[in-house]
Amino acid sequence: DTAHRYYSMERQRLDGRQAVLRNFGDQPAATLDGHKIEIAANIATVEEADRAFAAGAEGIGLFRTEMLFLDRASAPDEAEQHEIYHRVIEAADGRPVIIRTMDVGGDKSLSYLNLPPEQNPFLGYRAVRIYPQFESLFRTQVRALVRASGHGPLRVMLPMVSRLEEIRWAKKIIAEEQALCVAESKSFDKKMQIGTMLEVPSAAFALDEFSREVDFFSIGSNDLLQYFMAADRADSRIAPLYNPLQPAFLRLLKQIVDKARANKKWIGLCGEMGGQKRYLPLLAGLGLNEISVSAPAIGGLKAELSRLDLADCQQLFTSALKCATADEVGALFDKFSAQHSLPLLAPEMVVVNADAATKEEAIKRGVDLLYIHGRTEQPRAVEEAIWQREANYSTGFGHGFAIPHCKSSAVNANSVVVLKFARPVPWNSLDEKPVRVVILMVIRESDGATEHMKIISALARQVTHENFRDSIEQEQNPEQLCAFLKKKIGC
Ligand code: PEP
Ligand code: MG
Repeated sequence: DTAHRYYSMERQRLDGRQAVLRNFGDQPAATLDGHKIEIAANIATVEEADRAFAAGAEGIGLFRTEMLFLDRASAPDEAEQHEIYHRVIEAADGRPVIIRTMDVGGDKSLSYLNLPPEQNPFLGYRAVRIYPQFESLFRTQVRALVRASGHGPLRVMLPMVSRLEEIRWAKKIIAEEQALCVAESKSFDKKMQIGTMLEVPSAAFALDEFSREVDFFSIGSNDLLQYFMAADRADSRIAPLYNPLQPAFLRLLKQIVDKARANKKWIGLCGEMGGQKRYLPLLAGLGLNEISVSAPAIGGLKAELSRLDLADCQQLFTSALKCATADEVGALFDKFSAQHSLPLLAPEMVVVNADAATKEEAIKRGVDLLYIHGRTEQPRAVEEAIWQREANYSTGFGHGFAIPHCKSSAVNANSVVVLKFARPVPWNSLDEKPVRVVILMVIRESDGATEHMKIISALARQVTHENFRDSIEQEQNPEQLCAFLKKKIGC
């Protein structure tokens, strides 16, 4: 029965998070002051496109087509590719779709290309660099894309571009295939946009020239950072180098976006850093048109974006550019997120008819609520920290009230959860009475010691007052309860 209850609570936790994210996913991505930044999805299959749009994607920012070419005896033909691109465009239903031509070769070797292994696959013969040798392979993909462009807004993107010649060559092939379509009276979009990934540092210094040839750019921060820092993105020993908060890397990003802007080009970012909430204020401040991420990150990013003010983000970015080290940038970030965090008290963190059979369940309920509302990504670590406190002294202060709390690096935002139980919960309280009200408080590790103690002692003091306890027990409206608590503990 205990196990059954546990798994049912786990279900509620995961479903609760999904519901909150879906709610945000349904809204357009914009900052608090109404500045729009498209949140799009990275995909590698058609099925992922459906999932991405269900999660609230505003477009496909990167369709990595290499998956279609891997693990098979020969390349997919035009019809097979056309079918897939068509289906993704259909799923997009008018929203923009960026399809990247195959990024194969190097570490993603295809048996049917017979490419010899390389010493340095990441610096080697791959992506746009191999297209001229395998021209018919590239032409087939281009033909499938050109034909698919007739079905909806399609943009084609070239990977690993480092020189103007590569763009010109690819554009010539695309133009030839379009001309063939005309000759064969096949429908296609004459205005199909062509763009490039910005993931090789040399591209950052050729954007004026590139801009004369292409319609848009997307920063591939995974590779851009790896090549810029000369640090393998998969080698954990050099992880400190592979850090997007390096001031030099931020300055590179700034130069890229400024150049794109000066040339009036649309610019997005489709590397992993885009999916991390921590970097969102920075990327918003950078001035991107779009951020493309994996589907599960979309709802959370939209939620986070809706709390940010563009001018604050711009200021953060400008300050970050002046930092000397990544640690300094990190400290700036911690300060920013502390200042722009969710409020300590919020109605969605108040449950007036909570249910728990044990103290363990009660604490889990509270922490799960933090998870559901994005205040922690690691609920187990937060629970652990709370139980460590409980081991030192009971936070069951008596009179049916308990104030479990902790300070933990797993906490994103200082938070108070209020749980009022219909059925009192056994607790090893000082007066040995069960608990009817749990006020659970969690504080971020990076915050000073004083804040934590101030609120806890204010709460502990209030709990000794009968008036305070009565008010909390009687109030059934979460908004009112928040307002009351806010007044009483002065925060
Ligand atoms: C990138 O390099 O950032 C990128 C998005 O491309 P991939 O991860 O497919 O190399
Ligand atoms: Mg890349």
